[in-house]
Amino acid sequence: MLNGNEPPQCPVCDIRAKSQKERLPGDLIFVPAETPEGMASYKVQCPSCGVFVITEDVYKDLPTAKLPNKHLCSAWLYQYTKTHQKDPFKIYEIDDLRKMDFSILPKTVTDKKEALMIALAEFIENKNKAYTDIIHFKDGHFIPEIAAKSFDELISIVRLLASDELITSHLTLNGEGSACTITSKGWERIDSYRKVKTDGKTVFVAMWFDKTTELYRKHVSDIILKCGYNPIIIDQHDYEGYIMDQVLHQIKIAKFIVADYTVMPEDDNKEHPKVKGGSRGGVYFEAGFAKGLNKKVIVTCKNDEGSKRRLHFDIEQINRIEWTDEDLGGKFNEKLESRILNVFGKGPL
Ligand SMILES: [Zn+2]
Repeated sequence: MLNGNEPPQCPVCDIRAKSQKERLPGDLIFVPAETPEGMASYKVQCPSCGVFVITEDVYKDLPTAKLPNKHLCSAWLYQYTKTHQKDPFKIYEIDDLRKMDFSILPKTVTDKKEALMIALAEFIENKNKAYTDIIHFKDGHFIPEIAAKSFDELISIVRLLASDELITSHLTLNGEGSACTITSKGWERIDSYRKVKTDGKTVFVAMWFDKTTELYRKHVSDIILKCGYNPIIIDQHDYEGYIMDQVLHQIKIAKFIVADYTVMPEDDNKEHPKVKGGSRGGVYFEAGFAKGLNKKVIVTCKNDEGSKRRLHFDIEQINRIEWTDEDLGGKFNEKLESRILNVFGKGPL
């Protein structure tokens, strides 16, 4: 152990530990642990980062390692803890932090406003408080909920929510001592964010079919099942009204979406009224519909020139899992499985 004492601060978010006397439930604590390989480590319980395991070696190296996004690592760990209560994230080497997929975190101001409203509602509900009770921001534990860089960023989002009249805020000049209550309009907004109820076990796969994607389809389906979810893949050769209704319904109840943007060879036969193949408009439509319902979309695409050159620029920015026929059953399965388990945890099936 470090000098026989507990470490002084969280290595990810830099929160300082309090002395044993001052400590309250939920404050930063370190429990000595050992990795299966026998490396000395700590199980850390941090009010900002949640619970994680870190080896002593990484703990010592972290302050000098150049990690530009520590606040995102902290927010990511916090989200991970929510879905993996019994199985904390393990940081055995610095690279374990570099592998985190930040695309699951709120990014835009709109995302952050929504994330904070939901976090405020959960705070009230989990503590069995009255709907109009005051919520204090002083301990900054809403920072990871919105992946904020600092307490000031949190307070700026609070100010925006107040100007939208979703909360009434009691803001002090430097933010210290700031608090808010959720307004009636705020609770309405929270309801509308939550209105789209998922069944918690369905995963919708947005893709188009022909022989070239048959194997992909089989593997995606196997992986989703292995992760404890029920894959829904609807054949859309005939994109007729009743199928569309079913598609939209399945997306509404899905826990999340897997969208594959692989392009099929274009078939521009003049005898058909519609060009077949090419970029998959249906997949873009379904993924966009899911996004609009605040569902998370895992993006995949075949690693070939034709598909990648036709990706819309909005999708190009997104961290996607690429695949080749050789990866199916191997590398691709591992990547997709770990993405699903990291972001959503094990499903109920
Ligand atoms: Zn922390």
